[in-house]
Amino acid sequence: MRTKDGGYVFLVGAGPGDPGLITVKGLEALRQAEVVVYDYLTNAELLKETRPDAEFIYVGKRGGQHTLSQEEINQLLVEKAQAGKTVARLKGGDPFVFGRGGEEAMALAEAGVPFEVIPAVTSAVAAPAYAGIPVTQRGLASSFAVVTGHEDPTKAELAIDWKYLARGVDTLIFLMGVGNLPEIVARLMEHGRPPETPAALVRWGTTPRQETVVGTLADIAEKVEAAGLRPPAVTVIGQVVNLREHLRWYDRKPLFGKRVLVTRSREQASVLSRRLRELGAEPVELPAIAFQPPEDYTPLDAAIRHIHQYDWIIFTSTNGVRAFMERLWTLGWDARSLARVKLAAIGPATAAALEQYHLRADYMPDQYVAEAVAAGIGDVSGQRILLPRTDIARPALAIALREAGAIVDEVTAYRTVLAEVVQESVPTGGLVSPTSEDVRQMLAENQIDVVTFTSSSTVRNLVALLGDAELLRGALIVCIGPITAGTAREVGLRVDVVAEEYTVDGLIEVLTRESGALDGVPS
Ligand code: SAH
Repeated sequence: MRTKDGGYVFLVGAGPGDPGLITVKGLEALRQAEVVVYDYLTNAELLKETRPDAEFIYVGKRGGQHTLSQEEINQLLVEKAQAGKTVARLKGGDPFVFGRGGEEAMALAEAGVPFEVIPAVTSAVAAPAYAGIPVTQRGLASSFAVVTGHEDPTKAELAIDWKYLARGVDTLIFLMGVGNLPEIVARLMEHGRPPETPAALVRWGTTPRQETVVGTLADIAEKVEAAGLRPPAVTVIGQVVNLREHLRWYDRKPLFGKRVLVTRSREQASVLSRRLRELGAEPVELPAIAFQPPEDYTPLDAAIRHIHQYDWIIFTSTNGVRAFMERLWTLGWDARSLARVKLAAIGPATAAALEQYHLRADYMPDQYVAEAVAAGIGDVSGQRILLPRTDIARPALAIALREAGAIVDEVTAYRTVLAEVVQESVPTGGLVSPTSEDVRQMLAENQIDVVTFTSSSTVRNLVALLGDAELLRGALIVCIGPITAGTAREVGLRVDVVAEEYTVDGLIEVLTRESGALDGVPS
């Protein structure tokens, strides 16, 4: 039973790698944990779901060495719980499938620490599934077994019954079996499994780094050796492997396996990252910009106090909407004070931000650049227009409006600053949550396929963060629109692709269309 103040341990399965494959219950446990104990196979993406004050303890391997022994991990869980903490012990895949979760539960039970187990999607089934291999199939396989490929030779009584396995089970799935693959296939053939039985290894299944090698019992070990395939991988043996030919889906996604640098602010990155992940890409988030309140609120506050004097407010970004509405609220007002002023939104995301406050844009231009707005909004001669924006906004819109006879007040609603990348890089199995130094290295080694820019400030600040524009040479450079592209060229970058619709969707669309070009990025 869970008591109010007592410690508690959730043995949580994190799923096989794709962060979307954690269970709802697992995510809830992670969100309430005060201490998160995680290891090598945990996707760093999931660690973002924790409370800001959560303590992270990495107990995985570092440079091949275990940071803590199993004994020490058990002890750590007991100690943290006894100190009254809510602990999430996050384990790759399912906690009770070869994860030594049973041993951890045993230690907790012995110490009288209350715990619960949150089962999860195991890599044994999910990695084959993402490779297009169902572990059972009518007419082909009516049983499957999950077997360790790393049997401890000292546990004589647990030794695998190869004779039965080879002939008695349709689909065989080995975890931790890369190193012993030659012995495993030899044993199976020795005990009567035909050499022509299809076999596959799936490495880093359910992640954009997924790699699959297909063969037969007779030649799979050789093929894996030739491909240089390393752990972690799941080995699948049986007729179902042939289905991959028809059912392959994940590694056919348009951006599968591409590493894409996302330079937006931390808050804005997630939308783009999610879309990239849906297309099979691996987003690498290095926020180049961050947002801060204005240094001086006086101009914004004055504009809000005199809001009834304006004919229009033109919002040019979602941040502008949020900063303005939050300040309005802080000053003791609400949306009713906007009753008589017309609202314009540049771009659908800005319009959507207004909708979150139940406000409808009266005008949204077809083209999401400043110049088109002044032309499209109608006769503004003599009209008072408020532009709540970032401190570094381009003057073009105000100039065009003034030329058309409007009286324009530009006020700083928020500031765009160079992001300080303070967070430490999280040690996991390379599923990245990087620092600028990590990104610099990835770029230098040509490990980033695409760099995305969603505003001029992301361009300038990324170059400032990296200290060298040359590093971006090897990647495909994609810009959200012509202004951003112009800035990129100004700082000496080669722009490869510019979105036709200046939105995240537009950017994703051209990127998908150009994905063919990715295999031969100019350098
Ligand atoms: N509890 C985990 C298994 C832990 S044992 C689960 O249920 O998935 C570790 C082994 O799991 C690795 O050696 C590898 O064989 C397999 N494994 C875990 N994640 C994997 C992944 N994303 N792709 C391929 N194999 C994986």
